[in-house]
Amino acid sequence: MQALPAIKPQRDELADFEAQCDAWFRDNIVADPGFMLPLTFMEVSTDAQFDFLRRWQRKVYEAGYLGMSWPAEYGGGGLHPDFQRTATRIMRKYDAPILLNAIGTGWAGPLILDVGTEAQRRRYIKPILSAEEIWCQGFSEPENGSDLGNAQLKVVRDGDGYAATGSKIWTSLGDRADHMILLARTASDAVSKYAGLSFFLAPMKVAGVETRRIKKLTGEYGFVQSFFDNAHIPADCLMGEEGQGWSMAMKTLEYERGTKVNLAGGYYSKDMDVMAIVDLARSSARGGKPVLDDPVMRDRLVDFLIDIQGMNLNSQRRNISALNQDRPMGLALMNKLTRTELVRELTQFSLQFQGTRAGYYTGDDEAVDAGFWHRSYLNSFSATIGGGTSEIQKNIIGEHVLGLPKTR
Ligand SMILES: Cc1cc2nc3c(=O)[nH]c(=O)nc-3n(C[C@H](O)[C@H](O)[C@H](O)COP(=O)(O)OP(=O)(O)OC[C@H]3O[C@@H](n4cnc5c(N)ncnc54)[C@H](O)[C@@H]3O)c2cc1C
Repeated sequence: MQALPAIKPQRDELADFEAQCDAWFRDNIVADPGFMLPLTFMEVSTDAQFDFLRRWQRKVYEAGYLGMSWPAEYGGGGLHPDFQRTATRIMRKYDAPILLNAIGTGWAGPLILDVGTEAQRRRYIKPILSAEEIWCQGFSEPENGSDLGNAQLKVVRDGDGYAATGSKIWTSLGDRADHMILLARTASDAVSKYAGLSFFLAPMKVAGVETRRIKKLTGEYGFVQSFFDNAHIPADCLMGEEGQGWSMAMKTLEYERGTKVNLAGGYYSKDMDVMAIVDLARSSARGGKPVLDDPVMRDRLVDFLIDIQGMNLNSQRRNISALNQDRPMGLALMNKLTRTELVRELTQFSLQFQGTRAGYYTGDDEAVDAGFWHRSYLNSFSATIGGGTSEIQKNIIGEHVLGLPKTR
């Protein structure tokens, strides 16, 4: 039976909730764990970072501030989304740490709630929210990234389940994960390359699965190549039917690219604080004067501020369906492209203020703000590639939003 929609809270009720939530985050955030925290879930590199973020997510969930609008029977709060929106806003207010289990709470969880079986919902949703079980995403392969429909990792029927053989790559959190949302080829003679794909909730901590960490541009680790050698996947880990993998992958990407929203709440990456860049321009000197006094730099900074304000307004517009009826996915798809590219340009710009000190990196005593800006710049490329590169995003907007002819 379908649960009744949660009741929209009265203004007073929401205000009371906000006050209580505000007090909790104010009192519970550990401002400095004593080591550098990652800026996104794709950059969880050390055991200390992983353990800290896992404990943090669990604490937020146990306090009742995560998964608030997910159904109560699976471990969610069963409340109206306004509560979660408020809690997430307060998290941002206090600059709370990111939530670790992004693939679980952001992609796999919503997908399981949407199209999973009752048994899958009961099995997976609560440990996703509490970060007891960590998820990763096995879409990209060494030879097939943008061309996702060409995925070749092979899954065959084997006794009472399946066996997987092949390799995935760039798998964020792959070495830590308990489960992978896995796009795999179950038939090589299907009518199309898409029809031969199936989608699994594959266990990672089983015989036949190995992972090899990959070092990133930043010097940190965050993703892996994973190798499957006849690894067992239980039959009830299949999502939908065999051959429905492509449609499951497309649903997953709707969550990942922000065109469909049923997130558990919180955020998985820190927003770029543009006012911190203004402060940096104020405190950095050029020719004996603050960079902020340089008319050229000032002009560029104002352009960035205008762009960011425009994007923030677009994000608000996106939530008002009446303003999106002509092109329903347009703003969400555009946001991913413009926001990720802008963060890259903005962090690159911040390095220009720093003169010769821009050459220092995290760990160097001379680095400005302990190398934060440099690390942010190098990390900013991740989001312009992960979840579909900017070029692919432009193709999607061209074809699916603007109706332009298909690329080859
Ligand atoms: C930090 C990070 C984390 C990631 N995490 C995950 C993860 O958890 N799970 C996962 O499955 N994947 C993950 N990825 C992989 C990511 O999804 C792929 O890197 C991405 O889809 C691009 O695929 P590729 O690397 O194979 O590049 P390719 O597809 O080989 O593309 C190479 C270049 O060609 C361009 N190009 C390709 N096709 C076209 C086209 N049709 N039109 C125009 N230009 C084109 C691309 O834009 C790119 O510039 C992650 C990537 C990064 C950087």
